[in-house]
Amino acid sequence: MTRIVYVNGEYLPEEEARISVFDRGFLFADGVYEVSSVLRGRLIDNPGHMARLHRSLTALDMAAPATDTELEAIQMSLIGRNQVDEGLVYLQVTRGAADRDFVYPEGVKPSLVMFTQSKPLLQSAQAERGISVVTTEDIRWRRRDIKSVGLLAASMAKMIARRAGADDAWMVESGKVTEGSSSNAYILTREGTLVTRSLGHEILAGITREAVLRLARTSSLQIEERPFSLAEAEEAAEAFITSATTFVMPVVSIDGKPVGDGRPGPVTRQLRELYITAALEQTGR
Ligand code: PMP
Repeated sequence: MTRIVYVNGEYLPEEEARISVFDRGFLFADGVYEVSSVLRGRLIDNPGHMARLHRSLTALDMAAPATDTELEAIQMSLIGRNQVDEGLVYLQVTRGAADRDFVYPEGVKPSLVMFTQSKPLLQSAQAERGISVVTTEDIRWRRRDIKSVGLLAASMAKMIARRAGADDAWMVESGKVTEGSSSNAYILTREGTLVTRSLGHEILAGITREAVLRLARTSSLQIEERPFSLAEAEEAAEAFITSATTFVMPVVSIDGKPVGDGRPGPVTRQLRELYITAALEQTGR
């Protein structure tokens, strides 16, 4: 079955989809995106993703390509056309196509592209055994709260991890962990406090982060939203990451040193369970 993608008003087989060479997403990475997970054919936490899409668009003076209702209808149509039970929907908005110029063009129609990827999210060998991370300097720009398609620094971080034989990278700035290459980062101190970086321009405000912190609060965990150092991470009892496609993923080693006993910790496992239960409840299935 060939995948059907959405491009500027049309549903097309992926090989027939086209974007202009003058699209500013291609020339300037002048675009933003969202990734929503799909469980049982339903979107998870989608209102949060829509809200963040608007924050990204506003920060870049970019017009919304459609209403939220229209965007969600396209997401659901793609899920149906591609028979996605578990996986994700990717949504990208760029400023549109215009002759190359650094100045934002006037009156250009934004480009809207969406596609799906089917993949298992609930059953995960990685979640069972946990992932290894290496730390690397955070060389990204200073507006990481904007979910820009300019992802080369994150891609480079991922390759540093890959070449070091690790699963992922944690990025570090001035001795403090900012976030994962495509996730938010957390530690649980030996005293049992959950620590994750406070929101600001330095990190992306994860939609999964918001949901997991809400669940952590209801299970009366102590929570501190503040930068944590690499030294603290190495001393931590547990560590994990969150993102729309990994949910809550245990981190069991940092720079080759085991976190805690080197296995996914009980608090991390519990938060993963709580998140998945809440996500499945949203599907009503
Ligand atoms: N930080 C970065 C840099 C990311 O790329 C992502 C994934 N999009 C996240 C955090 C997690 O965000 P979310 O939970 O909304 O997927």
